[in-house]
Amino acid sequence: MNALSVLAEEEQLFFDTVVAFARERVGPRVSEMDEAALLAPELVPALFELGVMGVEIPSEYGGAESSFFNAILAVEALARVDPSVAVVVDVQNTLVNNALLRWGNADQKSRYLPKLASSWVGSYALSEASSGSDAFALKTRAERRGDRWILEGRKLWITNAHESSLFIVFANADPSKGYKGITAFLVERSFPGFSVGKKEQKLGIRASSTCELMLDGCEVPLENVLGEVGQGYKIAILALNEGRIGIGAQMLGLAVGAFDYALGYMHERQQFGKAIAEFQGMQFQYAKLATEIQAARLLVYDAARLKDQGRDFVKEAAMAKLFASEIAERAASSAIDFMGGVGFTRDFPVEKFYRDAKIGKIYEGTSNMQLATIAKLLQAERKAP
Ligand SMILES: Cc1cc2nc3c(=O)[nH]c(=O)nc-3n(C[C@H](O)[C@H](O)[C@H](O)COP(=O)(O)OP(=O)(O)OC[C@H]3O[C@@H](n4cnc5c(N)ncnc54)[C@H](O)[C@@H]3O)c2cc1C
Repeated sequence: MNALSVLAEEEQLFFDTVVAFARERVGPRVSEMDEAALLAPELVPALFELGVMGVEIPSEYGGAESSFFNAILAVEALARVDPSVAVVVDVQNTLVNNALLRWGNADQKSRYLPKLASSWVGSYALSEASSGSDAFALKTRAERRGDRWILEGRKLWITNAHESSLFIVFANADPSKGYKGITAFLVERSFPGFSVGKKEQKLGIRASSTCELMLDGCEVPLENVLGEVGQGYKIAILALNEGRIGIGAQMLGLAVGAFDYALGYMHERQQFGKAIAEFQGMQFQYAKLATEIQAARLLVYDAARLKDQGRDFVKEAAMAKLFASEIAERAASSAIDFMGGVGFTRDFPVEKFYRDAKIGKIYEGTSNMQLATIAKLLQAERKAP
């Protein structure tokens, strides 16, 4: 699908570079990584080399010093080939790097940003077994003892955990204050009392690691509190608001990947003496889908551009994630329909896109949570003078 007219020339060049990387370096490994449920280890340094792991990190820390929009483009481009690889880049840029850039002090930035731009993968650890949508009901506790914070609890579903060296962990330092006790900690993998637990066996995005984190008296130096004690809920929300645009981009890329593959097939596959793409019954379906994908693209790009311009983008980000994840599921499902029996086999990539699409409606806030956010902001707009 070549409907990228809304990109400036240098954005298009960047996008094309990442698409080329995805096709050449990721493409040959996709099904093997999916089967093995493991990200090919050599892809991690390759992603750093490509410059997509520190897109917004300033050049003084070794990053690309580029825009949030370009981070979104990188996620979309990778997701066209493998949404699992896309989410590695997405979490790194939109949750981890962003939180450090916004809330980190000079010392934290100089300690961690050069690593995050060059070799360290990061994770964002908010969810727990009993707190998903109701994230601020988290039970992990932080207690100050002398020159350390001691973290106690379990985190669940943590993306990138198998590969990560740095984890932004949310724990409550003062439960008497409710969610206002939640605090964000920069936890290195090597800190005493920290360990990564079992990896989930998932339906889709199988090459992306999703693990439990164990905090058993985990010792965190005082200087590793991100922002202020008690500011964790703000850090969590603001990061997720931006992260949702990244998930929208992941779902957009997935939709295009599935669509393009199926459209190519439809032009090759002959039935009743002509290519199946020539039948009007097929044309109306893929024309409608192409239109829906373009609408998803405009929502995602609009939210990302608003964010870069420092304008309100929260409602638009929720809309982008909500809609792009619906379209991704529809596109991947239709791609299987368009290809008939072969679409249902593992010999072709569309069944994997279908499995991968499902996560878009779940993580970084389920579709119901996006609807709740949109409705709340619509109501607030009505009340505003
Ligand atoms: C592959 C994967 C990767 C993940 N990566 C991360 C990560 O890196 N870091 C992290 O912190 N978390 C991560 N998560 C967790 C993810 O964010 C949560 O799974 C998600 O927020 C939903 O929470 P839950 O699974 O507990 O579902 P629940 O909150 O139990 O929701 C179940 C259902 O109830 C609905 N529901 C709940 N409350 C309401 C309500 N008030 N109104 C209407 N409907 C409601 C939901 O919409 C959903 O349909 C990941 C999850 C997965 C599966």
